Amino acid sequence: MTTALITGASRGIGAHAARRLAAQGVTVLAGVRNPDTTSFTEETIHPIALDVADDASVAAAVKEVEASFGALDVLVNNAGIAGSEAAPADTGPDEVRQVFETNVVGPVRVTHAFLPLLRAAQRPRLVMVSSQLGSLTLMDDGRWQNWPHLAYPSSKAALNMTAVMYAKTLPEVLVSVVNPGFTATDFNGHRGHQTLDEGTEALVAAVLDTAGPSGRSFSREGVTPW
Ligand code: NDP
Repeated sequence: MTTALITGASRGIGAHAARRLAAQGVTVLAGVRNPDTTSFTEETIHPIALDVADDASVAAAVKEVEASFGALDVLVNNAGIAGSEAAPADTGPDEVRQVFETNVVGPVRVTHAFLPLLRAAQRPRLVMVSSQLGSLTLMDDGRWQNWPHLAYPSSKAALNMTAVMYAKTLPEVLVSVVNPGFTATDFNGHRGHQTLDEGTEALVAAVLDTAGPSGRSFSREGVTPW
């Protein structure tokens, strides 16, 4: 039995991945801010209260998972926010702080807290849900125009580097970064052109460990360009 905790599983990519993984026999711990509002009916999906921006909430979730399972095979840091669609020049530090708190500090907080339970698993896996925007460089000539805003791409670039450093220093953990294409969810007002099946493909493969090279692996790209 594989146990996988997915943060931000109340809706969108996280909820859809939870259902797909449950259908594949994975025991899914669906991290949600309010477990009372979830609509999961699958027996193998267990909603668990988890606000990635709240130390006490994360600590309580660790205790709950430890008491029920003793170890965690896979942690998926999926919870994320887009921030506003203001121009970079109109984006101030408060917004950047807020987006980074959820998209960067959140995954670090959750990973740090769950690491002992991951290390107690036989083949621990850590999956970061990033974005192609996190890999933009000054040389990119067009993709940036799809999201010309400051905080979100910056946060995903920082998230990528947390994954790099975990991958380089935790030989016992298989670290993956997945970059969903532009997927229709609340996140982008359902403007995305990918279906939820397409947007969760790389995530599901990373959790099941069926994608890419076997053994130690780092980056598994989502394939659809924006
Ligand atoms: P949604 O807006 O549909 O869902 C976001 C999820 O994150 C919700 O479950 C939300 O919970 C949760 N969340 C937000 N803040 C917190 C928090 N502090 N603690 C716990 N959960 C939180 O977005 P998507 O499903 O589209 O996005 C999921 C991930 O995929 C994000 O990291 C996003 O950056 C990434 N991504 C999405 C793309 C897309 O086109 N959709 C493209 C590339 C990457 P609640 O219901 O409580 O608000």
